[in-house]
Amino acid sequence: MAGSNVYTDAVARLERLGAEAGVTPEVIAALRDPKSTLIASLPVRMDDGSRRYFRAYRCRYNDALGPTKGGIRFHPDVTLEEVQALALWMTIKCAVVGLPYGGGKGGVIVNPKALSRLELERLSRAYMRAMADVIGPERDIPAPDVYTNARIMGWMMDEYEAIHRAKTPAVITGKPIRLGGSLGREEATGRGAFLCIQELARVRKLEPSKTRVAIQGFGNAGYHVAHLLQDSGYRIVAVSDSQGAVYSEDGFDVDSLYQNKQETRKLRGVYCEGTVCQLVDHKRISNEELLELEVDILIPAALEGVIGPWNVDRIRAPVIVEVANGPVLGEVDAKLFEAGKIVVPDVLANAGGVTVSYFEWVQNRAGYAWTLEEVRARLTEVMKRAFWETWELASAKKSSLRSAAYTVALRRIAEAIHAHGTSDYFQEASP
Ligand code: NAD
Repeated sequence: MAGSNVYTDAVARLERLGAEAGVTPEVIAALRDPKSTLIASLPVRMDDGSRRYFRAYRCRYNDALGPTKGGIRFHPDVTLEEVQALALWMTIKCAVVGLPYGGGKGGVIVNPKALSRLELERLSRAYMRAMADVIGPERDIPAPDVYTNARIMGWMMDEYEAIHRAKTPAVITGKPIRLGGSLGREEATGRGAFLCIQELARVRKLEPSKTRVAIQGFGNAGYHVAHLLQDSGYRIVAVSDSQGAVYSEDGFDVDSLYQNKQETRKLRGVYCEGTVCQLVDHKRISNEELLELEVDILIPAALEGVIGPWNVDRIRAPVIVEVANGPVLGEVDAKLFEAGKIVVPDVLANAGGVTVSYFEWVQNRAGYAWTLEEVRARLTEVMKRAFWETWELASAKKSSLRSAAYTVALRRIAEAIHAHGTSDYFQEASP
């Protein structure tokens, strides 16, 4: 992300939006640094008999509202700063939707695509062995993130249970259904974003058939939001993954595109071969061009820091829905707001994932298995409430949705911090 430090940017944004929210310096001080970050070197036996070491992180950012919660990312570009920024955003996100959680995050510097399945399993188990002291159903609860999935969560849970010699499904969420996962978790992030777009469409009087959408990143989150939007009549005109992007004025059939990607392991498979190419007239564009398309809704759903000072003036979409965490740098927030763009911030737009993770944890602890309808109905209730709370506050303050979402979250975190007593309270008792 072009020379910026994602964590410094996240803290600067927190300080600015904290001042706008009017929370006390004590609250900002509590959130300026993580509670703790464990750095580990994971030894993994490779298939050729050699041993390799992978650097890993687990950050527990803040637990004022409850145990810390956040995904684990496997990616070659993972850094300490990125993990800490993601953990800070998780702290805000859980508070925006009113979950009894603090924020955390984990990561491993690895290219998982270069590992065999057995190596991936050994790496996942090594992560849990290294982090087991800070993780736990009442301490810190991981989940999937970029390039990790349900199977990896299952291996990690299994390793935790082997260490603790007890069945503990609530230690991790996003697990396979048969291992205690929740129905509806896989689609939850995309569905949460879709619910926000539906509410926004009401206010902005968007007509789905006339609304053109571009999606950067076609993994778990990107695919599900694309699928739900298309089902409701929206036109998905551009999609990208790490290999490149495709554009079609007529719109893509999202499911065939996804199926093709699953089969060829890359979106590029649709450029010139297979049925999808024949279905629609399309052209190949770059990921940068996708971000600058003249569409009605732009959905960054890949990695952080893709919109910054270098391209903000060329972003033409009037609505940006941040399905990825941190795709817009804090330093261009004001520019987008002044340009009249609506940015549905990550801490609201992608909160569906952690919300259903919370449902999974609740079910594990209570021994329930909710139906898909029940999960979807509860998710809809949470997301709609959070959307309108944020929207109405933004309208009243004449602020961005991000500023309003941070205000909602920081007030909740502040109440928890102040419940232990503030300087005012203690000074009152002093002689
Ligand atoms: P994923 O691993 O399923 O998919 C990531 C996708 O991004 C892949 O299609 C990959 O090819 C693509 N990608 C990678 N680099 C790219 C690039 N430079 N340009 C375009 N595409 C690129 O991951 P995911 O779970 O869908 O996560 C995507 C984003 O959503 C992340 O920012 C993640 O933190 C956020 N998120 C995910 C969840 C969840 O429940 N999965 C929840 C909240 C937020």
